[in-house]
Amino acid sequence: MAQQVLLVTGGSRGIGAATALLAAERGYAVGVNYRRDAAAAAAIVQRITAAGGRAVALQADVADEAEVVALFARLDATLGPVTALVNNAGILEAQMRVDALDAARIGRILATNVTGTLLCCREAVRRMSTRHGGGGGAIVNVSSVAAKTGSPGEYVDYAASKGAVDALTRGLAQEVAQEGIRVNAVRPGFIYTGMHADGGEPGRVDRVKAAVPLRRGGQPEEVAEAILWLLSPQAAYSTGAFIDVAGGR
Ligand code: NAP
Repeated sequence: MAQQVLLVTGGSRGIGAATALLAAERGYAVGVNYRRDAAAAAAIVQRITAAGGRAVALQADVADEAEVVALFARLDATLGPVTALVNNAGILEAQMRVDALDAARIGRILATNVTGTLLCCREAVRRMSTRHGGGGGAIVNVSSVAAKTGSPGEYVDYAASKGAVDALTRGLAQEVAQEGIRVNAVRPGFIYTGMHADGGEPGRVDRVKAAVPLRRGGQPEEVAEAILWLLSPQAAYSTGAFIDVAGGR
């Protein structure tokens, strides 16, 4: 069987990096997309290739349509057409209430988290769908438990963007179910990554973990396990489905 080709957006750090590394262990060739941190992406690629795997680092801002088109074309030319996609790239900004938000910030959040996810889905469907001559594939979107809680007092804009990711996951799953493509999502809870520093509180997971039924934060590797299962043939009967990796929240 031909090697599966996985693109992980935002694969240079956190949950995306853990997903890229685990996927390589499971035999995928991996495109490691990043936006700014070339050294971090190169380090993930180096770890994969040093272990005998195949990987390339691919710079692109998923919020930019031309860059997304070029990203998938570069993957075609290096590892081959995408057969598995993890829409992991996502951002939040400083904690604030809705009464302090402005349109520029809301636009940035939606551009990466929603537009970026949809654009990458579009490019993947154009390659995977049997309707377009493709051989099928699997997509996993990285949503958040915030889609259910709404993140009051912290980042309602981010939570709203993840609500949109849930909706597009359901819709696309049904749209392409007859075309060989499964579309699922994971909803992480409080995971130890650098993202919380972007919200202005690097120690956020430790502050809030007492409110988690399992009484701890999660590790990126625990989210990666759920993602890899949803991508795998073992999940062949799951589409439009969600796995919460959130300690019971
Ligand atoms: P992270 O450590 O902050 O890493 C974010 C990654 O996304 C980096 O590789 C970053 O690349 C990349 N990225 C950001 N904007 C991008 C863009 N426009 N185009 C391409 N790449 C972009 O984040 P994380 O905590 O692992 O989060 C990963 C996903 O999980 C996100 O969708 C997030 O919303 C979701 N999530 C996280 C948590 C949590 O507690 N950590 C909880 C629920 C959901 P550069 O470094 O090059 O900018």
